[in-house]
Amino acid sequence: MKINIEKSAYERNRSQAEENYKLLKNKNIRAIEILGPQGAGKTSIIEVLAMQLKNKYKIRVIAGDKTTTIDRDRILEKGVQSIQIETGTCHLDAFQIKKALGEHQELLEGDLLIIENVGNPICPTEYILGTDQRLVVISMANGPFQIRKHPFLIKAADITVINKIDLAKALEYDPEDFAAEVRSLNPTTKIVLLSAKTGEGIPQLIKTLSL
Ligand code: MG
Ligand code: ZN
Repeated sequence: MKINIEKSAYERNRSQAEENYKLLKNKNIRAIEILGPQGAGKTSIIEVLAMQLKNKYKIRVIAGDKTTTIDRDRILEKGVQSIQIETGTCHLDAFQIKKALGEHQELLEGDLLIIENVGNPICPTEYILGTDQRLVVISMANGPFQIRKHPFLIKAADITVINKIDLAKALEYDPEDFAAEVRSLNPTTKIVLLSAKTGEGIPQLIKTLSL
């Protein structure tokens, strides 16, 4: 019985995600979800994209965070409109996105919506939000086993960013080995090797996102 209840929760989320997708399409808004573990660099990547693209797009950001406004405040400092959803739980769901889009008119006045999910490699993968793409961020600093330990995260990725390649030498890992491991789990995901810190790989990320 419990399994059935959980299954229907996923299905209800999926239907709401489809509604969100239609609403965003009607408004000509491109939407990208960014997900991955805490500390992988999701917010840092949004900051860099915000700096480089804020004159080209009307960017809006939804920062999902269980308790704090740290991420939202970082993005606001870059001069990009951002709101926080205090999830209270360990993931965003499509109903929270619907509520935010209803309550914050400014979110529907942009043309590029970036949604940062809660830093959690597990359950956000199960709850689609209604975006065009899902960008998964992992970090070399978390070691090579994170990929095999979180196969569903990798399988959810339209694009996978392997961040913190500036640490490769110190960590004695080859970013290409990480990429090969990602590819073995998800042969269709696009992979970008990147350092949000040095900026290496950012032009490739922008190109991969067709932004
Ligand atoms: Mg963050
Ligand atoms: Zn969760």
